[in-house]
Amino acid sequence: MDYGQIIDKVYTACLPFANEGRQADYIPMLAEVDAKQFGLCLLTLDGNVYEQGNTRTRFSLQSISKVFALAMCLSQEADRLWQRMGKEPSGNAFNSLVQLEYEHGIPRNPFINAGAIVMADVLLSTLSRPEEQFLTFVRSLSGSSTVGFNRRVAQSEQSCGYLNAAIANLLKYHGNIRGDITRVLEFYFLMCSVEMSCHELAHAFLPFANHRQPFNYGGVSLTSSQVKRINAIMQTCGFYDEAGEFSYRVGLPGKSGVGGGIAAIHPLHYAVATWSPRLNIKGNSVMGMKALELLTSETEESIF
Ligand code: GLN
Repeated sequence: MDYGQIIDKVYTACLPFANEGRQADYIPMLAEVDAKQFGLCLLTLDGNVYEQGNTRTRFSLQSISKVFALAMCLSQEADRLWQRMGKEPSGNAFNSLVQLEYEHGIPRNPFINAGAIVMADVLLSTLSRPEEQFLTFVRSLSGSSTVGFNRRVAQSEQSCGYLNAAIANLLKYHGNIRGDITRVLEFYFLMCSVEMSCHELAHAFLPFANHRQPFNYGGVSLTSSQVKRINAIMQTCGFYDEAGEFSYRVGLPGKSGVGGGIAAIHPLHYAVATWSPRLNIKGNSVMGMKALELLTSETEESIF
């Protein structure tokens, strides 16, 4: 498979979509990012790198970091985690709180905000140095010792984070947050603020594409079955109320974030990351969705 030629072709074919969509501005600092950037980077399991565009510029991972939080939670709690959240697609927006009320504070899955806020609580209560351990893990996965939080972005989100505060209050009311809400939200926003480039992000997702190799990064170990299950949840819940559409159009497990990034994997083949800040109405990158759709069409490979 000539991935190099395909990546070049896909990149060029996406350029006409550069002005479609709107970048997130509910986190004030994200609105300051230059919206015209677009990067696409594919890493194969056998070590080849194919990239086009802004693949070495770091951007805010936002919800993509929920995959790393899930990996850490499963390594700490294993199946006990599922007593506190489900693994069903929500069919609702990432920041919706409607289901929390009639499901008595049990989030539908780990990738909506409610689920990730519960995961922040789990990590705070099970890790001795949560911030440091989270960073050690993401640095090890991405292969870069300079990957870090952007505390200004976290602060910017916290200053307007009324909806996430409402979610946290509802969770606390139902007994699904053990710690102090302010501390839980602070850690949640910090995890979302991690920045990586497309190249680093593809690197960080490669171990999820390679479940036959031991998963042991920065103190986090998972079984092969746990890695496959994380991929299953990415497939069914990685794009909120557009998870079905992504599955239909792309056919790979993946995860998006409102910073405009998308990471996806083709198990036993490759990890791919895209970044372009303009989002569609569901909060997923327009060019990223297009690029991955074209990638799996051109390669005629997906998990299906
Ligand atoms: N930090 C963001 C929020 O809580 C993450 C959302 C996302 O990337 N979909 O709203």
